[in-house]
Amino acid sequence: MSAAAPAKASTSPAQKALHKLGLVRDIDLALHLPLRYEDETRLVRLADARDGDVVQIEARVASTELSLRPRRQFKVKVDDGSDTCVLRFLNFYPSHQKTLVEGALVRVRGEIRGGFLGREMVHPSFKLAGGELPQALTPVYPTVAQLPQAYLRKAVQSGLARAPLSETLPPEAPPPVHGPFWSLKQALQFLHHPSPQASVAALEDRTHPAWTRLKAEELLAQQLSQLQARRGRDAMRAPALRPPRPQLGLSLHTQLLERLPFRLTAAQQRVEQEIGADLAKTLPMHRLLQGDVGSGKTVVAALAAARCIDAGWQCALMAPTEILAEQHFRKLVSWLEPLGIRTAWLTGSQKAAERKKALAAIESGEAGLVVGTHAVIQEKVQFKNLALAIIDEQHRFGVAQRLALRSKLADGSGREGEVAQEPHLLMMSATPIPRTLAMSYYADLDVSTIDELPPGRTPIVTKVVHEDRRAEVIARIQAQLAEGRQVYWVCPLIEESEALDLRNATETHAELSAALPGTEVALLHSRMPVADKKAVMARFNAGQTGVLVSTTVIEVGVDVPNASLMVIEHAERFGLSQLHQLRGRVGRGAAASACVLLYSTGDAPRLGETARARLKAMAETQDGFEIARRDLEIRGPGEFLGARQSGAPLLRFADLATDTALLAWARELAPLMLDRHAALAERHIQRWLGGKSEFLKA
Ligand code: ADP
Ligand code: MG
Repeated sequence: MSAAAPAKASTSPAQKALHKLGLVRDIDLALHLPLRYEDETRLVRLADARDGDVVQIEARVASTELSLRPRRQFKVKVDDGSDTCVLRFLNFYPSHQKTLVEGALVRVRGEIRGGFLGREMVHPSFKLAGGELPQALTPVYPTVAQLPQAYLRKAVQSGLARAPLSETLPPEAPPPVHGPFWSLKQALQFLHHPSPQASVAALEDRTHPAWTRLKAEELLAQQLSQLQARRGRDAMRAPALRPPRPQLGLSLHTQLLERLPFRLTAAQQRVEQEIGADLAKTLPMHRLLQGDVGSGKTVVAALAAARCIDAGWQCALMAPTEILAEQHFRKLVSWLEPLGIRTAWLTGSQKAAERKKALAAIESGEAGLVVGTHAVIQEKVQFKNLALAIIDEQHRFGVAQRLALRSKLADGSGREGEVAQEPHLLMMSATPIPRTLAMSYYADLDVSTIDELPPGRTPIVTKVVHEDRRAEVIARIQAQLAEGRQVYWVCPLIEESEALDLRNATETHAELSAALPGTEVALLHSRMPVADKKAVMARFNAGQTGVLVSTTVIEVGVDVPNASLMVIEHAERFGLSQLHQLRGRVGRGAAASACVLLYSTGDAPRLGETARARLKAMAETQDGFEIARRDLEIRGPGEFLGARQSGAPLLRFADLATDTALLAWARELAPLMLDRHAALAERHIQRWLGGKSEFLKA
């Protein structure tokens, strides 16, 4: 198995699953490390096992019983001479009944529990007794349903045997830790097959020297690739966007500032200056503008656009959805068009004639500002001179799209024989990145932060309410409507698979319509045609609709200051940052606002631990940074970034919260390696990131 091998025509489901997990090269397999270990090296006597222990026993089947009530199950009583125990299977196959027959001697592994009718193991693994006990702990790898452990173990084993594991750290690199520092080869061999004497605790909490080596390697690869990307970008050129000469009259930028109905906050002024300074350079800007929901990023974007157009170049603003793009369009147009700026609108769903006109205006340069969804970066769109791309809610913008944007802009403005040109890039996000993540994942990104909300906002009161108090919530809605306010009611996304247990948006819409006679209750869900969505939003914006029932389509960006109450149904199913984004839709005007998090526990007696932690965080704080910090704590960085969407080099092994010393070591070593040991650095990056590194530079 090597990266260059052509894919075989007939791949088995297991092989496909391997590829899906990214286990393509030998080294990928070697770096696929166990989640945990099972100790199959010894047998335990039932009499010595305590409740809650995971043990391996050898025992004889005393009796079996197939029962249908209260539910279909297969129960097997075993006896190892010291004690007895019942094996209970709720899912079982003919093979179970064939192996587990009375009198058979079996080797069984599972968790011992004190059941109602004595001790039991639920769904233990088992096989006929006999055969040698293994010498090493048995690794259990992260896997998926189509990929059985046994198959994966073999694949890892052979990958490990073949993978090139020679040292990539330069000889003068200082060791990252005091005490023993293992070689990669030694560390991997150990982690895949630890001896039974190894401390399982040290292995599983990843403090073992073998883990230290892996984490150090991983962090170094990440820092190397980011630094490489940064240097690559530094070698490119971008148009310097400087203010026009004063004799040409007031700049658009100045005019816009003068016409705004409000004063910029100090934080907005600061970040606006930071962006302005970047744009004036010939180095492509690569900046993330982060600020909590409602902190006023749009006007900062408009000011950046004005600077760009002032200098005689085009600016593109993109948002992940048409609704969002439309809002930017509306707002930006209302600010910029009175200044004489032509704006072009591009989406996937517009009519051919309209689109043709927009394309022509973009190509001729007549349109200074282009707003749209990622339709903006389609092949057919030709810019005259694009110099600034602004991407809102960049975490929802795929990495592939970011790459497409870059290549488009490069060929739009670069000329043969010149240094490659690249536009300035400004990404905006309402999900603040905690500092440790910013240092590590976004080391090649400059960050500007709006850490202050515009004045006059009232805090949002957040209440966590059980589903059975729905009637009270509806009464509360009535009270808000009576005061002339508007209300959002958010339901989880309509998904086929979950349709059964979710009270979906359609039902809720009917229920609220019936409960609120005389009020316009509208429904907005993700599967509606775009035109219908827009019509619904327009009526809500205009204040005609009192209650908007919707799925997560309003997640980001909607700005209706008269809305003062947000109800989130099945709040336990939403992620923390999603909840925070949603809540940010209210509290935009001066009226006191509230957010009700309705939760249901389904059949369970209580909410799960993480759901509870999320709702608690929501009730306790409104600060986006604190929310982000707690989110990271609850989920861990891998999930925080969303592996698929970010395409970021997710840390699999290192933990930014605890491995700060290793991170510092990697940050220090990376420039030295790129400067003096380019070949080693390249080998190291390839080993860890393989074909993925192109993505990482985006
Ligand atoms: P977000 O950062 O979530 O994108 P917006 O740009 O949509 O926030 O701004 C939220 C609201 O605050 C908008 O109605 C905007 O016009 C208003 N706003 C922005 N800056 C200020 C300010 N300095 N003073 C008062 N209102 C402001
Ligand atoms: Mg916004």
